[in-house]
Amino acid sequence: MPAPRRDQVKLLRTAASEVMTELLKRFRLWWRIAAKAPRALLNVERPILVHLIVTRRCNLDCGYCNEYDQVSRPVPLELLAKRVDRLAELGTVAITLSGGEPLLHPRLEEIVMRIASRRMIVTLISNGYLLSRERIESLNLAGLDHLEISIDNVEPDAVSRKSLRLLEPKLRWLAEHARFSVAINSVVGSGVAQPEDALTIARRARELGFMSSVGIVHDGEGQLQPLRLREMEVYRALKRLEGGLLGRINGRFQSNLAHGRPNDWRCRAGARYLYVDESGLVHYCSQQRGTPGVALDEYTRAHIRRELRVPKACAPYCTINCVQQISLIDAWRAPQAAADAWRPARPVAAREPARSSAREAEG
Ligand code: SF4
Ligand code: SF4
Repeated sequence: MPAPRRDQVKLLRTAASEVMTELLKRFRLWWRIAAKAPRALLNVERPILVHLIVTRRCNLDCGYCNEYDQVSRPVPLELLAKRVDRLAELGTVAITLSGGEPLLHPRLEEIVMRIASRRMIVTLISNGYLLSRERIESLNLAGLDHLEISIDNVEPDAVSRKSLRLLEPKLRWLAEHARFSVAINSVVGSGVAQPEDALTIARRARELGFMSSVGIVHDGEGQLQPLRLREMEVYRALKRLEGGLLGRINGRFQSNLAHGRPNDWRCRAGARYLYVDESGLVHYCSQQRGTPGVALDEYTRAHIRRELRVPKACAPYCTINCVQQISLIDAWRAPQAAADAWRPARPVAAREPARSSAREAEG
């Protein structure tokens, strides 16, 4: 066998060092989560994860998305700081900044710093377009723990420009400069023209040492679109690639959904997971906005206790990964009370499979 050339050895060393750096960042994130886990586990009145919307505006216009506009102004820093403080008072473990596109917020780093200073884990969901080396450095300095980018295809199409080719330079900068961990989410399901793209995206994420995950496309109310044969093959290959403890733990959820089967689980939205919109209202999740629709200022532990017990009729076919994962922590607790059941405005059984799907299968 011929000896490897010097440039090959250099490439291998660079790749190994990138992977080691990413593993260390991942370890740091898991360590922070593990340190907070016992208190979160014992105290059911603490939200574990909150999605906080910092602007509804987005620089892209993905054909399936129902979570953006092109006109909203960024939420003023003073209001966001108050919301962060209120979430800290409630004992929140982690806040994910979201949008629209949160990097459009001109004072995003100050919000990140505020969350970090209140000793909460701070993460960001972005389409990645506005990342630059300087922005990555400023997010490092602000104390960001984790970034998630969703990529829909390899080449842009009429539905989405969240494309691997266009984002490749940003991914390289992240691999070189980010001190926070990075996860790349790809999706399979209805509306994705080339299901195989998801596999290419996940492999590239792995090469760069990032975490990768797969989501199943959901409709405008967070509900399932069953996979077709070709999508199912890609999905199986992706699951074999997918890393991450949570990805493995909730594999059964995803597997049931991929096969069009319901899940039997207790959605703890409104209690352990909150979605706080740009007006400061608390909702179950991005796809069930309007319920409970209470201002965060007025949201108390009494609301959390109540919502913990409320069964959600949309749960069996829900595809929203992050809420499923958060809800696992209380899976062993007392069943939810049927008398308190909450039903979405439109009966689940009456839903047509909709082509439009929401955001990045939130994860
Ligand atoms: S999916 Fe994300 S990037 Fe696309 S329009 Fe919606 S918020 Fe913007
Ligand atoms: S089950 Fe929970 S997370 Fe899923 S759509 Fe319903 S309220 Fe949202």
